[in-house]
Amino acid sequence: NKAIDVFDLSKKYGSHFALKDLNLSINEGEFFGLIGPNGAGKSTLIRILLNMIFATSGEAAIFNLDCAKESAEIKKMTSYVSSDVSYYDSMKVKDIFRLVAKFHHVVDFNQQMAYYTELFDLQLNKKFRELSLGNKRKVAIICGLLPQPKLLILDEPTNGLDPLIQFRLFEILEEKNKQGMTIILSSHDLKEVQTHCEKAAFIKEGKIIAEEKLKESHLKE
Ligand code: ADP
Ligand code: ADP
Repeated sequence: NKAIDVFDLSKKYGSHFALKDLNLSINEGEFFGLIGPNGAGKSTLIRILLNMIFATSGEAAIFNLDCAKESAEIKKMTSYVSSDVSYYDSMKVKDIFRLVAKFHHVVDFNQQMAYYTELFDLQLNKKFRELSLGNKRKVAIICGLLPQPKLLILDEPTNGLDPLIQFRLFEILEEKNKQGMTIILSSHDLKEVQTHCEKAAFIKEGKIIAEEKLKESHLKE
């Protein structure tokens, strides 16, 4: 089964192609790296998948659902951790988590929240805008994990995170992946992708220029 199926996808800004006839297929259960330099088109691709922007042409599907037409269904199964963490502003951290939990009907909310805040060393009573960039990113990551999505998409998640927290983040991600979560890690950091992903696509100037298998899937161990 496919988690992601993208066919001849293009996105034009003026006369500039942010994506040009891009094809990509990601299997369910994969820990997949999307790697490329800044400006390659990673965020544009992710934004089309999540129906935040429209493609100029081509097709994109998540779990066989059309990204443009069936995005409400897709959003119930998918979490996106954006590289941009400027949204919640004056809300307290715990209220942000409560809101996400309510929206996604998270059942074991208190246990999950206690677990993640301890692991990520995060204070619940601070206001979001008063947090450091690294702590904001932790909040965004926890918001992505709380609903236990079938598909988790992370856009440059380790920017500004200290090494211990990065280590713990990847321990969690690998555990979730073993339990069946499909994970897409978008990054410009080859080391990071090489260490954690089982497969990677290299994107440049809006195209996939190579796909490489990095290690055996845990499913085949
Ligand atoms: P990445 O996430 O890999 O850094 P992006 O998807 O953000 O790359 O950008 C791909 C290309 O599209 C870049 O050249 C970028 O400047 C351009 N681009 C992205 N968003 C817009 C926009 N809203 N308007 C115009 N150009 C854009
Ligand atoms: P990312 O690396 O995550 O794509 P960016 O800083 O490239 O983040 O983009 C931040 C915002 O600016 C996005 O909404 C993107 O669409 C927009 N953007 C990026 N490049 C351009 C551009 N050349 N012209 C206009 N908007 C852009």
